[in-house]
Amino acid sequence: MAVDYQTLAVEGVQSLTPYQPGKPVEELAREYGFRPDDIIKLASNENPLGPSPRALAAAREALENLCLYPDGNAFALKEALSRHLGLAPAQLTLGNGSNDVLEVIARCFAAPGSEVIYSQHAFAVYPLVTLAIGARGVEVPAKNWGHDLEAMADAVTERTRLLFVANPNNPTGTVAGEKAIRSLMDRVPERVVVVLDEAYCEYLAGTDDDVNGIGLLRDYPNLIVTRTFSKAWGLAALRVGYAVSSAAIANILNRVRQPFNVNTVAQVAATAVLSDLEYLERSREVNRQGLRQLEAGLTDLGLEWIPSAGNFVAVDVGRDGNEVFQGLLKEGVIVRPIGGYGMPSHLRVSVGLPEQNERFLKALKRVLSATGA
Ligand SMILES: *Cc1c(COP(=O)(O)O)cnc(C)c1O
Repeated sequence: MAVDYQTLAVEGVQSLTPYQPGKPVEELAREYGFRPDDIIKLASNENPLGPSPRALAAAREALENLCLYPDGNAFALKEALSRHLGLAPAQLTLGNGSNDVLEVIARCFAAPGSEVIYSQHAFAVYPLVTLAIGARGVEVPAKNWGHDLEAMADAVTERTRLLFVANPNNPTGTVAGEKAIRSLMDRVPERVVVVLDEAYCEYLAGTDDDVNGIGLLRDYPNLIVTRTFSKAWGLAALRVGYAVSSAAIANILNRVRQPFNVNTVAQVAATAVLSDLEYLERSREVNRQGLRQLEAGLTDLGLEWIPSAGNFVAVDVGRDGNEVFQGLLKEGVIVRPIGGYGMPSHLRVSVGLPEQNERFLKALKRVLSATGA
């Protein structure tokens, strides 16, 4: 008798659908015979500037020591981060991308029988880490594409252990202000751990939405703020993210993470980029201008888009998004269809360099006129 491994997997895992990453450039090149250089990828919210030269130099130097295990406590990176953020190293938990940190948080605080709250149209990793540990995901309907924080607070029960808020959210780009976050925290009981995922917070600097979850930690001991080097800091390939929390929560998280979950090259590059504030400022500026460019171009095409606080914009193409996505692939342009997020007529487009944004807009115009509404 053949064994059906599907039925052997733990229950939560049976219902999982794998995370759908952006289509790699090399894959599209293979499939359609493009040269990789002729393809633009605006599909994974990557930094279009390329890495910081300072990070690159540090990473190159670290290659000499590939035979050695990383520093499991990441002393230098934690020191640099604690200076950058103005908090104690003991409040930090590092991860192989903040994705890793989100998973560690779920494993520390939820189990079969627990409920984990997140929003409709929220980042796909929350249901993934919830179901993988056999906990129950409670998806709260969104409001105007954003998190309905009041409804999320209402959804808390005796069984709730965790509540995820993406701020700004991916893929919608919506953001909640400090007042709304505070009133959520005021309503959620202290025994429920709230994760404020601030993967895009660097892009908020200087805007009206400039919320900083780290400033709320003092008032709310059940809060964990997660951040990443993958977006504005331009180190997505290296996988470095972190959680900021009370030292007591960090002590729990650090028990469960893998001892060497952040590799040496990642540690030194992340440490180096923290000193490259010029790179960060350029990332913000390119993003600000690129967003305006995309918004204006999409409006010219008669399309509705969701105002975004991130480095991407979700646009309603008024027809099957997957079809438009396929049409764009033939133009050598990779964006992200988000039907899996309950947004079948939207595409998520990452902000690129000005010429990339322009090329996307032109390709989209051609594809839309070929497919008809
Ligand atoms: C990109 C992203 C992350 C994290 O990415 P890592 O590369 O794993 O650090 C986390 N949350 C949201 C909402 C994101 O969009």
